[in-house]
Amino acid sequence: MDTARLISLDREHLIHPVSSWRGHEAAGATILESGKGAWLTDSEGRRLLDGFAGLWCVNTGYGCDSVIEAGRRQLEKLPYATGYFGFSCEPAIELAARLTRHAPGTLNRIYFSLGGSDAVDGTLRFIRYYQNARGMPQKRHVIGLEKGYHGSSFAGSGLTALPVFHRDADVPLPWQHHLPSPDPYRHPAGPDGEAIIHASVRALHDMVASLGGPDQVAAFYCELVQGSGGVIVPPDGWARAMQAACRELDILFVVDEVITGFGRTGPLFACAHEGLEPDMMTVAKGLTAGYAPMGGVFLSDAVYETIRDNTPPGVAIGHGQTYSAHPVSAAIGLAVLDLYEGGLLDNGVAAGRHLAARLAGLGNHPLVGATRAKGMLAGIELVTDKAAKAKPDPKLGIAGKLGRYGYEQGILYRAFADDVIGLAPPLCCSTDEIDILCDGIVAVLDRVM
Ligand code: PLP
Repeated sequence: MDTARLISLDREHLIHPVSSWRGHEAAGATILESGKGAWLTDSEGRRLLDGFAGLWCVNTGYGCDSVIEAGRRQLEKLPYATGYFGFSCEPAIELAARLTRHAPGTLNRIYFSLGGSDAVDGTLRFIRYYQNARGMPQKRHVIGLEKGYHGSSFAGSGLTALPVFHRDADVPLPWQHHLPSPDPYRHPAGPDGEAIIHASVRALHDMVASLGGPDQVAAFYCELVQGSGGVIVPPDGWARAMQAACRELDILFVVDEVITGFGRTGPLFACAHEGLEPDMMTVAKGLTAGYAPMGGVFLSDAVYETIRDNTPPGVAIGHGQTYSAHPVSAAIGLAVLDLYEGGLLDNGVAAGRHLAARLAGLGNHPLVGATRAKGMLAGIELVTDKAAKAKPDPKLGIAGKLGRYGYEQGILYRAFADDVIGLAPPLCCSTDEIDILCDGIVAVLDRVM
């Protein structure tokens, strides 16, 4: 592999997601070449322990023979099958049936998208279909959370509440709103879980009232751990209380499990922690563990049936993509699900326990303001003054240093802005690998100081 040539062509021709175009051209890419288990190798032969599972997606680790074989077999047999015009295909049907068996509540139907952003975009459309079908077209406002991330489709980027996705993009749209994040480290109500829950429920009621009452509000969205906003773990009971408030207000409770799904927090779906029964749920990432693109939108029986029964016979519901329920992605999804069911979730739970214990020990580090973990999803919040919870000054360039030093240390994680290290190791990690990752982070933090 001619690394210099690739870096040069990359600079000249490839536009990268959510990146500084100038910065990328100046720095040049690191070219990843291969992966096995939790380890990547780049084009210079450097081995890197992937503490972020690619982009919180390669939950199985790299190079799983059964997954590769399932994709290969499906490519040979039938590489594409449309879901339009009355056609379907075996892997998509089997995957839908198996996933809905595991899904919470009455989420008995799934629409397969290509990834998380278009899954979220799909929910926004299904919400419109649903409220129109109920004869309540005026129920239009949608509420998300500050620090929430729901992808970067046009409408989804407005539901997202991170500044980089709003800048120069004409979002949020006028019907999109955000409540304070249930962040125990920085919530104005203080760290007490009950106080945060109380304040969040109240804020939802107040916002609904300010938008003209429940008749004007269609849905509330949340992640069960806010991922890209800085791995924020809400207090136990928060999501259940928000679900109850939504039911009381007659607004749809939509859970975005794009990151938290597929064992990332322990169980197959994070809804299981509190017995949630959302009206809609989005997934992607761990669904195929990154081996092929695929996402999904689960609909509850009530939502599905309301749309179906109020659409005149023979009239199409106009939501679809060429690659919805792609057979190769679906075959891969089935093989990945076999791994989750075959012990991978258990390994993730054990490794996650070890990760949480190791992170708790980091609390004494002068740069660490808070650590948080739920299963194999964790965050380390950095501060320059613990008492004042002062975020590092961007002029210190900590994010850049974290990326560079981590690479030199042979570990990968995500540095959010300048103040949070995000971790989402593959669920296949051994406790030794978690130790390598955590020891590496300590070495990086000591160097950054
Ligand atoms: N929703 C959540 C919670 C996410 O974390 C992401 C991506 O990180 C998305 C949606 C968008 O998914 P994708 O990047 O597959 O479009």
